[in-house]
Parts: sequence; C-alpha cells; structure tokens
Amino acid sequence: MPRPGKPAIWHPFTQHGLNEPIPEIARAEGASLYTTDGTRIIDAISSWWVTTHGHCHPRIAAAIADQATRLDQLILAGWTHRPALDLAEGLVDLFGLPHVFFSDSGSTAVEVALKMALGFWRNTGHGHRNRVIVMQHSYHGDTIGAMSVGERGVYNAAYAPLLFDVDTVPFPHAGAEGVTYAALEALCARADAACFIVEPLVLGAGGMLMYPPAVLAEMAAICARHGVLFIADEVMTGWGRTGTLLACEQAGVTPDILCLAKGITGGAMPLAVTLANAAVYDAHYAPDRSRTFYHSSSYTANPIACAAAVANLAVWREEPVRERIATLRARQADGAAMLATVPGIANVRQCGTILALDYVVDGAGYLSDLQPRLLAFFRERGVLIRPLGNTAYLMPPYGIGADDLARCHAALADAVALIA
Ligand code: PLP
Repeated sequence: MPRPGKPAIWHPFTQHGLNEPIPEIARAEGASLYTTDGTRIIDAISSWWVTTHGHCHPRIAAAIADQATRLDQLILAGWTHRPALDLAEGLVDLFGLPHVFFSDSGSTAVEVALKMALGFWRNTGHGHRNRVIVMQHSYHGDTIGAMSVGERGVYNAAYAPLLFDVDTVPFPHAGAEGVTYAALEALCARADAACFIVEPLVLGAGGMLMYPPAVLAEMAAICARHGVLFIADEVMTGWGRTGTLLACEQAGVTPDILCLAKGITGGAMPLAVTLANAAVYDAHYAPDRSRTFYHSSSYTANPIACAAAVANLAVWREEPVRERIATLRARQADGAAMLATVPGIANVRQCGTILALDYVVDGAGYLSDLQPRLLAFFRERGVLIRPLGNTAYLMPPYGIGADDLARCHAALADAVALIA
C-alpha cells in the first residue's frame, strides 16, 4: 500500500521532504522532453549527461527494437554474442586500447578499473602497491569504491566507515599547477603507489572545474615515469563532450585504463566499459585459474545495450556529429561571452560543448537553499538545468537548436534575480 503523501519512488539525490514537484515526462525527442500535459522542456543537461545525439535517435532506437526480438540477454562468462564482439572491436579501433571489459554504469566501470589496477600489481608480484591516488574535488560514482576515490562531503559522510583510504592531490588551479605536480610526483614515488584515477579536463559533479590539456599530459607523464597506472575516467567527458571524442586526445594521452559509460549508447541504454592496455590484461592471463579477473554482473554486455552502442558507433561514423559539436561549441562560446557580462555571475568557463558558471553568493554550500530555488526557477522557464550548489552548467545534446540554446543562456542570465 502506498503511504499517504509519501511517494513510492525514492528518487535519487532528492529530498522528498522539500515537497518539490516531480514532473512526469511522457516522451522525448532530440533536446525536448514532453510532460504528460504536453508541456515542452528543454533538456539542457542531456538527462544526466548521457543523451549525446538527442533523445530517441531513430537509428539507435531501431537497433534496440531489432536486438530485443533476437537475443535479449546472455551470460557473458564463457559465452559471447555478435553485438558485444562488434562493439569491442569498434572500441579497440577507436581508442587504441586492446581489451574491453563490460559493465553497466559509470560507477561499475570505475570499480572494475580499480580492481584491474590492484590485480595488475598483485599478479605481477607487487601486491604492496595498493594505494590509489585521486584528485581533490573528483566524482567517480556512488558505489563504495567509486565513492572512496571521490571527494568526501555531506553526500557520503554517513558511509565513511565503508570507504577506503586514498591519497589526494590538489586540484590544478591556474597558476598553481606546480603544486599538483609536486604532490603527484611525491605520491607516485612512494613504494606503495598503485594507480592515479582522474577525470580528464573537466571534474564534473565536483563543480564543473576545468583544467587545460597540458596539465593532463604532465600528470600522465609523472605517472608513466613512476610506473603508476594512469586511469582516465571519461564517463562524463567521453563521447565528444569536451570537443573531441575523448578528452585525453587533446593531451595526446593514452591511459593505461579507460572508463566509459553514459554516451556509449548515445544515452539510450545503461552500459559501461573499462578498456585496458596489454600489460594490465596480460597480468590477468595464465594457463590456470590463478590470475582470473574476478568481476561480473548479471547484465554484463547485455546484447540490447551493446546493439545500441554499436548503433552509436555508426552514428559517429556516418552522421556529422563532429560538425554538430563544432556548432554547439561556437554557440556556447557566444553564450559564455554574454553571461560573463552579467553582474552576479562569475567564473564563466567552457570546455568544448560544456558551459559552466558560478552565481556569486555568500555561503552557498551544498545544503544551502539556493540549489532548489534555482532548480524551480529553471523548471518554470521550461528548461531542465540541475545546478551543483551555486554552479550551473549546460551540457545539452549536440543537435540542440540555436533558439533552444539561446533560451538556456537567457535562463542562466535571468536566474541572477534569485541572488539579488
Ligand atoms: N565517473 C564520472 C566522471 C561521472 O561523472 C559519473 C556520473 O556522473 C560516474 C563516474 C558514475 O556514473 P554512473 O552514474 O553511470 O554510475
């Protein structure tokens, strides 16, 4: 029996006690969501950063429908299927890492990466190398391992006893990159350093904090000098968000381990992958079962999700995705120039298709009431924008129209009324 006044759905990252309206969406197309009463909402954050080519892309939808009638699910331990084979080959060709491990969310892709890194050291006779180095303000997901390597704060304080200890380097603020390098160098030089996990170019949920490709290149070089495994978490930055297919491309970096999810299916199905280099894979390769990589989940490489991802690769190959990204990037630059002139807005920043800014308020911590008020303001303006504290950002589908994007920029500018 439902309880009066209390919803059956326990929504994620949502305080039901605030009694905020929870609109019901009936359908979606491109960058538009339609509520059950037909109101159109612009999806300015690609429904949590996943929908790269717009909602219900016909080619991806058709691939899902077709696969669902032929092979819906298969155990991947010891068995395989064509969508997984095609997808793995496609990913290996695209990203230059020779092995693909499947899972189903960005968080699990990160868990797998961490397990691969520690497995690598244990299987090569260096089990004492078991410390993970992370960057301040990072977010890598909400499972236990992923939380452990992310920023600690109000959202995970209750679970602190479950989290493992890590070593943290400061965020490379402009002009203070040397501090980050020195800290990373010192930690990498330690005998117990196993790996460094980082979000390339943009730290997403930590506040859309951006740093340049040269910094990423230098951090990767420091890790390489010390043989510390470099894990790139491109769950958010991958699939074009930063202007290139991978953010790592801009730094000329090939990570040892790469995490991808979100846009891998164009955002239509839950799927994730962790790609590994030959050394990491080979450390788990043996003529007996001693070095087996012990990780799986029921839906590993679900065929319908893989078919969606294969269709996504075809969209990237055959549609003008890069041109759409270039157009969006230029329009975001125009929006950023306008927003930078608005009193009450600071730190307007852009990386590829992502635009972010901060509203200038005192004491706008994570639990302040600014975030829900901003959320309501944007909802009333017909725009889905979900701020992070006093930081608001746009991360729309690449094909968003010029008028819709202009409405998003105007909503961001007008929201300063809330802090007046
Ligand atoms: N890593 C990064 C960089 C992310 O931004 C996210 C989610 O936003 C995750 C991992 C976790 O992905 P998921 O929500 O699919 O578990």
